[in-house]
Amino acid sequence: MFFLTTLLLSASKSSDPIRILVVTGGHGYKTEQFNQMLSSLGPSITYQIAELPGAYDLFLPENRNKYDVLVFYHMWQQITDEQAKVFAECIRNGKPVIALHHSICAYDDWPEYWNIIGGKYFHKVTSFRGKEYQPCSYIHDLHFDVNVASTKHPVIKGVKDFEIFDETYKGYYVEDGVTPLLTTDEPSSTPVIGWAKKYGKARIIVLQSGHDVPTFENSSFRKLLKQAIEWVYKK
Ligand SMILES: [Zn+2]
Repeated sequence: MFFLTTLLLSASKSSDPIRILVVTGGHGYKTEQFNQMLSSLGPSITYQIAELPGAYDLFLPENRNKYDVLVFYHMWQQITDEQAKVFAECIRNGKPVIALHHSICAYDDWPEYWNIIGGKYFHKVTSFRGKEYQPCSYIHDLHFDVNVASTKHPVIKGVKDFEIFDETYKGYYVEDGVTPLLTTDEPSSTPVIGWAKKYGKARIIVLQSGHDVPTFENSSFRKLLKQAIEWVYKK
């Protein structure tokens, strides 16, 4: 009897879903279709949505056990020193992050966020790590090719080069030393459009794509998102 119970417990533990917390706010998006994309990832991934600034509470130590992986889909700008400290500490201590699309444009005045995700779309002339960056640019509604890096990485496993219809960003900062996973030759884009890195104990994946419904429905993007969530969650 005892043996059976133990077995059942361990079986249920190994199949517990990964609970993602999607952090939004500061930028509109098509909620229904975005949520359909999240549902399409299957029963092994569950999600909840939290909007900033209220979502700041979920970075507090007492709330960190309510989710397993952070998915950034916000473009928030305002943060207090205390909120910034708690936010960075939450991730440094091991809470993994997937940063999508316009979350690269968030926090114009908080450089530690740029260090967390290893990237930053600049809205204004910005000096960072001894280099001056001009304001970046974007173009909506482009068909372009996404090239999958030749490196063996679990996030891109089984994903072949694909075409996407999305918005490009050009001129953003990408941290030295990240592992590029996706690139493009599209001239209106910065070449690296997907990467992996670490921040403290946490694994981080950044995917520049994800503006609108065509990407939410793109099967290669869905596969990348799912594999990214699974990979960052692994200890
Ligand atoms: Zn966009």
